[in-house]
Amino acid sequence: MELEHRQLVAEMIAPDTGELVRAEIDVRVDPLTGHTSRILPNRGLMPPHDFDLEAFARENQERCPFCPERIDGLTPKLPPAIHPEGQVVQGEAVLFPNLHAYSSHSCVSVYSPRLHYLPLGRITERLMADNLSTQVQYAKAVMAADPESRWSSINANHMLPSGSSLFHPHLQGIVDASPTTLQRQLADVPAARFDDYLDTERRTGRRYLRNSGRVQWLVSFAPIAPAELRAFVPGVASPAELSDELIAELAQGLTITLNAYGDMGYESFNLAMYGAPPGSMGYPLNLRIACRSNLKPFYRSDSTFLERLHWEGAVDLAPEDVAERLRDRFRT
Ligand SMILES: [Zn+2]
Repeated sequence: MELEHRQLVAEMIAPDTGELVRAEIDVRVDPLTGHTSRILPNRGLMPPHDFDLEAFARENQERCPFCPERIDGLTPKLPPAIHPEGQVVQGEAVLFPNLHAYSSHSCVSVYSPRLHYLPLGRITERLMADNLSTQVQYAKAVMAADPESRWSSINANHMLPSGSSLFHPHLQGIVDASPTTLQRQLADVPAARFDDYLDTERRTGRRYLRNSGRVQWLVSFAPIAPAELRAFVPGVASPAELSDELIAELAQGLTITLNAYGDMGYESFNLAMYGAPPGSMGYPLNLRIACRSNLKPFYRSDSTFLERLHWEGAVDLAPEDVAERLRDRFRT
């Protein structure tokens, strides 16, 4: 596969020297969905975190509905047809319905009620695996109770810049009878194209990180958001089909990624694991994870008119540099 891109050049007269200067923009086409993304010269659009997140956590903790004193009184319970206990509990993780539902089955799962403050450097494989496990159990239970709902996804808005309205770290699950736009586009990609994309990235090696057993990890060629990684799980189409071993493998890669984001100075991220209906032939379950702007007063959002209204990524962190920073961690 030829990974398609083209170079744009912007010319202007510099305000200080009066000289003609050029800026190069690399426009890349995503090989799976065809969306385009602009890789800009690094201009410091994603400054590292310098905000006292821990002090802010203390400030908003008193009212938090996900902390131990309030979680049982302030969060809803699952209907008995989905779960007799009303919550899915695994290790420290607790899953319950989303009070502000986004779909016919919409849930929230906290890593732990006691972890109101959880910087990315402190996320562990255990916390991630247990939280993913509640989501997988939920997707299975919903599909058993409501067989029409076959499209499931596991997602995260982590910290306010990513869209989270609550500070307390959590994942979110959606199970519906119809796909989101990206779920539909990805499910329409022919199986051979996924293989071709992964073969190409493995061969060129510039963005490929690791095959951890059954999961392949790489940095996106045409990212929608900063420092974006993708992972592919051939042979599994839906989160509802994930075994405990695969959950552990995904949790390991996600933890490596989030710990690395923390080291790079980022504390907010989005995650989407795009499920297709269980048993969909040739569809590899796949995910995207990416950084968002850091929380601080008057921060610049990384989501501009390009991302929101043109569906076009624009980042100044070159994917190859991101891969360079993450590669060693994935080798261990
Ligand atoms: Zn809390």
